[in-house]
Amino acid sequence: MKKISNALIKDYTTYKLDGVIKEVYFPSDVLELKNLLRKLKGKYKIIGMGSNLIISSNYDGALIKLENFDKLDIDETLVKVGAGYSLSKLALKCADKGLSGLEFAFGIPATIGGAVFQNAGAYGRQMDLVLEGINALDDKENIVYLSKEDLKFGYRDSILRHRRLICLEVFLRLKKGDAFSIKEKMRENMRMRKEKQPLEYPSAGSVFRNPPGNSAGKLIEEAGLKGFKVKGAMVSLKHANFIVNIGGAKGEDVIKLINIIREKVYAKTGILLECEQEIIE
Ligand SMILES: Cc1cc2nc3c(=O)[nH]c(=O)nc-3n(C[C@H](O)[C@H](O)[C@H](O)COP(=O)(O)OP(=O)(O)OC[C@H]3O[C@@H](n4cnc5c(N)ncnc54)[C@H](O)[C@@H]3O)c2cc1C
Repeated sequence: MKKISNALIKDYTTYKLDGVIKEVYFPSDVLELKNLLRKLKGKYKIIGMGSNLIISSNYDGALIKLENFDKLDIDETLVKVGAGYSLSKLALKCADKGLSGLEFAFGIPATIGGAVFQNAGAYGRQMDLVLEGINALDDKENIVYLSKEDLKFGYRDSILRHRRLICLEVFLRLKKGDAFSIKEKMRENMRMRKEKQPLEYPSAGSVFRNPPGNSAGKLIEEAGLKGFKVKGAMVSLKHANFIVNIGGAKGEDVIKLINIIREKVYAKTGILLECEQEIIE
């Protein structure tokens, strides 16, 4: 099995954080994955593109990347896809075939597995709208099928967050549509992303959930925190709900900045912001 020792965290997180990971493993099939899980005895984290992760430089577990779980099979409107496949690449492939439903997903830098874990979404749509079910490896090493209902989707939430289940492959049901209009919609979504988000710097997307009836970005901006820095981690000048790595940030710097933002916003408004990104330390 491919394994990289002393890997750079920046190669596995869209924040491009400083630090070193002892080992990153790339199992090529379920058998290798099962053997690896036994060997690592719980001291691991499954990662996709690391686009929702803040990995501390003190983390001493291993990472498991399922990039070899990347089979794609499209049969009419049913899509069967490996958990390691890129969500944006899948949206493009489906658009080419005139399949509609993943337009919202184009531009979200995720793997399919990570997108299901999070019920990733944008523009009022999210994964559960197109998902039929998944095959997953449970904590007894059985491959189990979970239907959409079993997955208990919520806002940026699914059962995968609460139980030790590894998503192996995903079944999506799309609709027939017109390839040109589907791609047009995707281009429009991408244009809006570029306009609103600081894509010129490494980040992990929105940091905080929007509190009910409010906008986290607005609260952070009103607390005067745009441009506020902890070493290389800075509140974006373009969009206050993004923290960007302007060079040399460690996971610890991002975590410190998150805590400062929460304290300052709470002191000013009485609202405690809830972090949407996952901290691994
Ligand atoms: C510029 C930018 C824009 C973004 N825009 C959006 C957006 O519009 N909407 C949105 O929802 N998110 C957005 N995000 C956040 C991020 O892309 C999503 O949260 C995405 O779903 C994370 O996917 P990933 O594959 O990178 O997972 P990772 O970040 O690598 O992992 C996230 C979690 O999923 C788990 N996981 C990953 N794969 C599996 C698997 N196969 N089985 C079980 N668990 C697994 C990991 O263990 C971890 O707990 C954005 C991020 C960036 C950087």
